[in-house]
Amino acid sequence: MAKLIIVSNRLPVKLQEKEGELQFKTSEGGLATGLGSIYKEGDNLWIGWPGKVVEEADKQQQIIKELQKESMFPVFLTEAEIKEYYEGFSNETLWPTFHYFSQYAVYDQQFWETYKNANQKFCDEIVKHAGPDDTIWVHDYQLLLLPSMLREKLPDCTIGFFQHIPFPSYEVFRLLPWRKELLEGMLGSDLVGFHTYDDMRHFLSSVNRLVGYGSMHGWINTGTRSLLVDSFPMGIDYEKYAQTAVSEEVAKRERIYRSNLKAEKLIISIDRLDYSKGIPQRLDAFEKFLEKYPEFHDKVTLVMLVVPSRDEVEKYKELKEEVDEMVGRINGKYSHIDWNPIQYFYRSYPLETLSAFYRMADIALVTPMRDGMNLVCKEYVASKHDQTGVLILSEMAGASKELSDALLINPNDIDQMVEALHQALTMPVEEQKVHMTSMQETIKRYNIHHWVSMFMDRLSYVKIKQLSMA
Ligand code: UDP
Repeated sequence: MAKLIIVSNRLPVKLQEKEGELQFKTSEGGLATGLGSIYKEGDNLWIGWPGKVVEEADKQQQIIKELQKESMFPVFLTEAEIKEYYEGFSNETLWPTFHYFSQYAVYDQQFWETYKNANQKFCDEIVKHAGPDDTIWVHDYQLLLLPSMLREKLPDCTIGFFQHIPFPSYEVFRLLPWRKELLEGMLGSDLVGFHTYDDMRHFLSSVNRLVGYGSMHGWINTGTRSLLVDSFPMGIDYEKYAQTAVSEEVAKRERIYRSNLKAEKLIISIDRLDYSKGIPQRLDAFEKFLEKYPEFHDKVTLVMLVVPSRDEVEKYKELKEEVDEMVGRINGKYSHIDWNPIQYFYRSYPLETLSAFYRMADIALVTPMRDGMNLVCKEYVASKHDQTGVLILSEMAGASKELSDALLINPNDIDQMVEALHQALTMPVEEQKVHMTSMQETIKRYNIHHWVSMFMDRLSYVKIKQLSMA
């Protein structure tokens, strides 16, 4: 029977070594939750890097054996591959370029060679498991070359590809020295998916100008085969966030946090430390807000959770220093014995803590310079059990396309953010409820399960359509 093979750079598992013993914990990321229901069915499986460099053969065997119980198969990457394929080409070349930060992009031929080799390594592992009628669903920018590599080895397979980050406009994408090869890699798919219609348009335009293939209603004809490009905005596990928010554990945490935070109004800001998230701009806006509206001193606190990320990379270290400095300066200027305008935490938190903050927050301030989707804003909306609260959201987040009931802002327009904060803090409760209810309806309907079935259904449709076009 035909099976589904899911492929992502990381397996949805946390591997830890304790006193020489390897321990596994399945992780609960959005993708794992969404695919959780299908990847364990039948012979379906998941292939990816287990998240740790393991070179000893006996340890590798042990990992293979353990993961097999969870229907997972590892691709072992070396230290050099992690440096050059993952941290290098993926995170220092593709990530900045695709988020419109080309000035941060590193163009290194060695990174590119290793990126190709690592994609080939994933391909070799998949080929060991795939039958001719299987469906392979490849995820994200670390594996852009994989669809064509697979197509060569398994010409009749069904191959879907989904990119979780933005696809930039042609003028930005063309800056990559390996632009044509990257597109050709993706074109091995039967279906290429993005979060938004704009990402999809940018991709089609780059394909047209760099590879020379036109398109009609998202269909590309390469001369030998046809493939479809479409948008699938990713959702969250709505029920999980809605239910966690009303659990006794979360209510208890909220009581504790409230007794420690004196301010009447709470603004929450949660993201990984990344230049794409617009953290300095957000702080700038909050500082200007305090300056312009002194009546809110003592009354409003910004709780800023920043999750450490890629801290080996120079640009991220610089950003950390900038954020630390700004928070210190703003708090230094306005704090007094009973009030700190910013409560800043640089670490990662479990679901229950996030949920308590989402529940408590009068405002979620989500202001990325660029974001493929942004799940934090959707999680906030799902957690507002009484439909109060206001979402301030950047137009540059994919989620803004679905959440038109948020206060939408341009993160470069600091004055607009200041006014949005004021508007949110003074918005009547009835008005908050109208907007929140509408956003909840959207997010509840277009949840993660809906996203998975939309993608899989469209992939089946493409296969049927291809037969009729052949
Ligand atoms: N998150 C978390 N712990 C934290 C902060 C964030 O588990 O302390 C989760 C958050 O719930 C969300 C994800 O990290 O599901 C961030 O996803 P998003 O799409 O907003 O941004 P990304 O980091 O993928 O760019």
